[in-house]
Parts: sequence; C-alpha cells; structure tokens
Amino acid sequence: MSDIRDDVVAGFEETFGRSSEGVWSAPGRVNLIGEHTDYNLGFVLPFAINRRTIVALGLRDDGVLRVASEFADEVAEIAIADLAPERLHGWSAYPLGVAWALGQFGADLAGVPGADLYIASTVPVGAGLSSSAAIESAVAVALNDVWQLGFDRQTLAKVGQLAENKAVGAPTGIMDQSASLLGREDHAVFLDCRSLDSSLVPLGFAEAGLELLIIDTGVSHSHATGGYAARRASCEEGARILEVDSLRDLTVDDLPRARNLLDDETFRRVRHVVTENQRVLDTVIALRESGPLAIGELLDASHISMRDDFEISVPELDLAVETAQANGAIGARMTGGGFGGAAIALVPSAGISRIQVAVDGAFAEHGFGQPTMFTVTAAGGAARD
Ligand code: ADP
Ligand code: MG
Repeated sequence: MSDIRDDVVAGFEETFGRSSEGVWSAPGRVNLIGEHTDYNLGFVLPFAINRRTIVALGLRDDGVLRVASEFADEVAEIAIADLAPERLHGWSAYPLGVAWALGQFGADLAGVPGADLYIASTVPVGAGLSSSAAIESAVAVALNDVWQLGFDRQTLAKVGQLAENKAVGAPTGIMDQSASLLGREDHAVFLDCRSLDSSLVPLGFAEAGLELLIIDTGVSHSHATGGYAARRASCEEGARILEVDSLRDLTVDDLPRARNLLDDETFRRVRHVVTENQRVLDTVIALRESGPLAIGELLDASHISMRDDFEISVPELDLAVETAQANGAIGARMTGGGFGGAAIALVPSAGISRIQVAVDGAFAEHGFGQPTMFTVTAAGGAARD
C-alpha cells in the first residue's frame, strides 16, 4: 500500500506540476451476502477490503476542478459553477459527480475553492468489488475535509450513490458506499437499507482458520445497461402488484400469496429478494453466535437463488462456485450485481491452493479465460491517510 501512496503523490506532482496537500483513501468492498436487496430496502452484509483507491488533492484558487487518474490518459476539467450531471462523462463522472452531489446535499459550492485530484487504485475495476464506490468515497471524504463540509458518513454514502445514479447513470443502491465508508478491520457492515442503521459484525475468519478467496472470472459486467435495471424494474413491479412499498415489507410467509398474484418470472425475482433478506439476518446471527464456520450453507443457498430465481449468474460464475464447493470451500457464491464479475469462496487457509488449482483447471477445461484469484481481508473504511 505504501507503494501506491507514493505513486499517487508522484503522479499528482507530474500531472499538476506542484505538490499535493493531502492523501485520502477508501476501500473497495465485497458483499458477503445480501445481493440485490439494497434497492429493495432490505439487508446487506458487505465488508470493506484491503484494496483501496487513493486520492491526492491540492486546492486551487480559481474555482476549477481537475481530476486525473493513473487509469486514464486525459485530465478532466470543469468549473465548479458548471457542475451538472449532463455535463459529466466517462470515468471522471464518478469524482466530479461526487463534487456535484455534495452540492445537492447542501454544500455551498459557490463558496468552496477549486481542487486538483490525482487518483490511483488497487481495487480491480469491474470485478464486483466496487471500484466505483471506492473512488466515490475517497473523493467524498477528501472534499468533505478540504471544503470543511462536516457531512457524516451516512450522508457521504448518499452523496456517492447520488453521483453514481445521476452523474454516471447507474441505478445502484446504497450498499457499496456504506461499506467503503463504514468498514472496520475484521468486521462486516450489517446495513438496513431502509433506516440506514448499521452495525459491525465480527467476522473472525482468521481465528477460525478461514480466508475469503475472490475468484474474478474476468467476465465484465455493466451496471449502466441491461440486466441490473431490468431486475430492479421487476422488483418494483412485484412490490406494486403485492401492494407493498418495497419488497422489504415481505417475508417468506408472504410467498404463497405472491405466487398466486405474480407471473412466474416476477415471482422468482421476488422470492430471491425475500429469501435473501432472511439469509442476511441468519448470517448475522450465525456469525455472532457460532462464528464463520456456520455460514457456509447460507452462502451456497444464496448462489442458487441468484442463479435460478434472480438469473444473474453466468456459466463462469457457476463453475467457479461449484468447483470451490467441490474442493473444500465452506461455502461459495457469486457476489456483486451479477452478469459477470467475481465469486467468493470461504476457504480453510490450508486448502486455498488446492481450490485455486482446481478452478484454474476447470476454467481451462471449459475453454473459459483464466480467472484471477486472490484473498481479501476486512479492512477499515475511508480515511485521510
Ligand atoms: P465496479 O464493480 O468495479 O464498481 P463499475 O462499473 O461500477 O465497476 O465501476 C467501474 C468504473 O469506475 C470504471 O469503469 C471507471 O469509470 C470508474 N473508476 C473506478 N476506479 C477508477 C480509478 N481508479 N480511476 C478512474 N476511474 C475509476
Ligand atoms: Mg460499481
């Protein structure tokens, strides 16, 4: 991590020809369980990971924002007075969208100085580990500090979400930003997406001899198009027909009634959300009362629900999950929005290389591209470094 922090400071100097005034960072996240429940105002259980997006920042006295990233060739530039979702495009819509969204939450953008930002990251992009929330949260805490806005973490999470929804155009929920902003070492963030109440749940993976393995299939997803929005629309349709404000208001006891009233596809979408909410609650209880060895079946059941009811898996994800399960994982599931990205497997430390070899072999056998595998630990949330 110290390397990349040095890279960011050096990148800032090279790009902007002066020194930065401070460095902030925010982690990516992995969702342990609770998928597509956030925008249905239900429960999620993500944790912040030991991969971070780092921002070096220097103030300007001319009301202009400039953003550069290791990741991109061009430096994007806009006057703060001109910030508007329709004027933001490409990757810079994430950081500049955050600046705009701070204004929507009451920051007096006419009274703040401009800034140069240089960004680098160790969060893989498009792997379902929310590089998007990492960049939003890093920029949000940086601007919140230097503009002395005093927003709390919950508000900064909403700022990041608004930027992603309106400036980027991806209809995502509040989970990713909450995990990135509220995470703590060795803990998951149990979030009620309706009240936004959160609490930390001890994971205890290392103590139990377990590690969380990420299997990035390399199949890229795109939230801004297609399936994600369609699933969201199905959930809204289900809630409308069942006459509830959101699917959060349903429990497994409501499913027989739902089956009678909904077409088969909408019913299965609803069933995923309702059962997934219950699995999150069960996972929190299992972690608190019995420890991580007790959550394997819940992870496995979550995958089946996403594969068969919500239909957001792809063959690469199914293969990763099945191969991990067959080779000693405690539990495994696809994670993230779906249609690509990564699977997670909760694995005994001693068995990691066996699973990696098995997954590599299975992917080769099926003619799939080579997956990328690495372990993550639960890390602290966004902060000034
Ligand atoms: P993810 O699952 O990684 O969040 P998204 O599609 O939601 O995938 O967000 C990825 C997008 O976020 C990238 O295509 C890019 O536009 C932006 N992004 C993420 N990290 C960076 C970065 N370090 N520098 C510039 N843009 C970034
Ligand atoms: Mg994202």
